[in-house]
Amino acid sequence: MSSTVLVINSGSSSIKYQLIEPEQGIVVASGLVERIGEHTGRLRHTFEGVDTTLSEPFADHGVGLRRVLDLFTEVGPGLADAGIVAVGHRVVQGGSRYSGPALVDENVLADIEELIPLAPLHNRANLRGIEVARELLPDVPHVAVFDTAFFSDLPEAAATYALDREVAEKYRVRRYGAHGTSHQYVSRTAATIVGRPLEELRQVVLHLGNGASASAVSGGRALDTSMGMTPLEGLVMGTRTGDIDPAVIFHLARNGGFTIDEIDDLFNRRSGVKGLAGQNDMRELHELVAAGDPAARLALDVYSHRLRKYVGAYAAVLGGLDVVTFTAGIGENDDIVRAESMRGLEFLGIELDAERNAGRIKEPRVISTDSSRVTVLVVPTKEEQEIARQAVSLL
Ligand code: AMP
Repeated sequence: MSSTVLVINSGSSSIKYQLIEPEQGIVVASGLVERIGEHTGRLRHTFEGVDTTLSEPFADHGVGLRRVLDLFTEVGPGLADAGIVAVGHRVVQGGSRYSGPALVDENVLADIEELIPLAPLHNRANLRGIEVARELLPDVPHVAVFDTAFFSDLPEAAATYALDREVAEKYRVRRYGAHGTSHQYVSRTAATIVGRPLEELRQVVLHLGNGASASAVSGGRALDTSMGMTPLEGLVMGTRTGDIDPAVIFHLARNGGFTIDEIDDLFNRRSGVKGLAGQNDMRELHELVAAGDPAARLALDVYSHRLRKYVGAYAAVLGGLDVVTFTAGIGENDDIVRAESMRGLEFLGIELDAERNAGRIKEPRVISTDSSRVTVLVVPTKEEQEIARQAVSLL
């Protein structure tokens, strides 16, 4: 086996991992530890097309990762033969300091910890993952790849909120964006698919998963993105509001007696498609729409309206548009959302081809007509591959 990178994405109660050969982007092994800290946890490890699953308690991230490494030894690939040259860690919030990957040392760890207030759930879990991985794999370099890095040099006009300057500076309130690794990978891949230099393309990337974000990318540089200080701003998401008048918070607190924590929970976990239609999976939403459920119909309309609005806004930010690319769970699989969100954008030069758009899309594909001035694409995102690539390029 040639050299590989172990990519780790730790969440508050989970660890996702992939062992990747970065040159060709081949996934050698992958897996997921879930329900860390709960009564019974679950670990699935996939190697050579075979799944091995364990159901047992994982007291903490350290226990979970140790069991993962055991499985590498027991079912393969053996760590000694795997040729791991680096461990790449996904870190959600890198503030404005990190514009690219960073070799983990005590300073980087301190920075990630210092940024916890800006992404409390994510950065704490990411930090924990790095700490246990460094203990268990002390002989390889560990690289942090930040979700915010691609957006760290957004133009000031796009990154700045029109908020009192002193307050904003003191509390580091600005737009950091998220999903940057995906937007970077997808916009670069889109350029190769259309066969034009990245430098001359004005692109909109729509990363539509359970979390969702849009970006405006010109010449490979991000000029704007829909997620803000946190991943709550922007598009309608599975359970998050996206853009909402901040005065709704004052209203709910003053007149509804909601606490700040209740509003946080309402906006982040009980809103979006779920809040509007009762559940957040797009497949089920479409079934409800087909069955004539008016709330589900409205949810889909609100979702598509917001998308259309962002595409129009970003065409203005970019001064024109060459490529629109869909990615992530909904972007790659949901032809209805793709069709409904692009409807009415013919004036921008966007014309979808119904046949090319049909169904779930597993490989990069053009879904616009040959005469469409803007090329519309689906490019499956590969965040782990991009993390592996960046880790290796840093080293
Ligand atoms: P992600 O966060 O990128 O993993 O995307 C997860 C979301 O993708 C789920 O919540 C679903 O709404 C959506 N999704 C996955 N598969 C499909 C599908 N076949 N059709 C429509 N939506 C899908």
